[in-house]
Amino acid sequence: MQLRKVTAASAAVLALALTATACGSSDDKGGDSADGGKKITIGIKIDQPGIGLKTPDGKFTGFDVDVATYIAKELGYDAKDIDFKETKSADRETAIERGDVKFIAASYSINDERLQKVDFAGPYLLAHQDILVRADDPSIKSPADLNSKKLCSVTGSTSAQNVKEKLAPKAQLQEYGGYSECLTGLENKVVDALTTDDSILAGFASQKDFQGKFKLAGFKMSNENYGIGLKKGDADLKKKINDALTKMVSDGSWDKAVKANFGPANYKNEPAPKIGNVVK
Ligand code: GLU
Repeated sequence: MQLRKVTAASAAVLALALTATACGSSDDKGGDSADGGKKITIGIKIDQPGIGLKTPDGKFTGFDVDVATYIAKELGYDAKDIDFKETKSADRETAIERGDVKFIAASYSINDERLQKVDFAGPYLLAHQDILVRADDPSIKSPADLNSKKLCSVTGSTSAQNVKEKLAPKAQLQEYGGYSECLTGLENKVVDALTTDDSILAGFASQKDFQGKFKLAGFKMSNENYGIGLKKGDADLKKKINDALTKMVSDGSWDKAVKANFGPANYKNEPAPKIGNVVK
């Protein structure tokens, strides 16, 4: 690293200069850190096993974490330079608009409404909305059965919106801030089902604590094209991320990440999407 070659004094001056730039330049906190070190802040989920999870020892795991780490590397950041920041479903556009994060990899579906506020690179995964029910509950045989049920989803998610607008407008929908609250509700029979992407639900169902308790219904109720959210109009970053995603697929890293993260949950993912090909 170049910094090691400079003297302590000039390093301090350099650090100060970088600090000044960081403070003076913009509201963009997603890039270099205030102390002059090269850092990148990436938005992630922290309560979705297999996708984005913060483990009790403070580590981040999941497919989105691997995708984000790969992209960061292509942008010139080592894994140690990454600050992962939780971005809940309802907070994602704001986090990008404010410059709190450089980009977001957080089970973030590309849709027209979000495209008004942010841009997306990708897609890098195609998932489908499904429901998770208690293993001993045979009463939900089709999405329409949800109309008489208590359903849990997360505020600001496409799943909540789909339920209200088309899938089951008469369902009693409970919206929480994160998925863990819904899971507790499902276990304690406060709600009858939890709806979100099958990629996320598979991860929950395979958790040690929940094994045998829940099952996925297997309804493919929507196409969820996961994209990397970034600041609207940043064509340069979008291109760099798209190039990184293309490389991740072609060098086999995408497959490796899929196996490592979805294998344990036995989630049968769709093949890698083509960049720019959003499946409606
Ligand atoms: N992929 C869906 C969405 O972007 C649901 C998962 C989530 O809430 O992150 O809203």
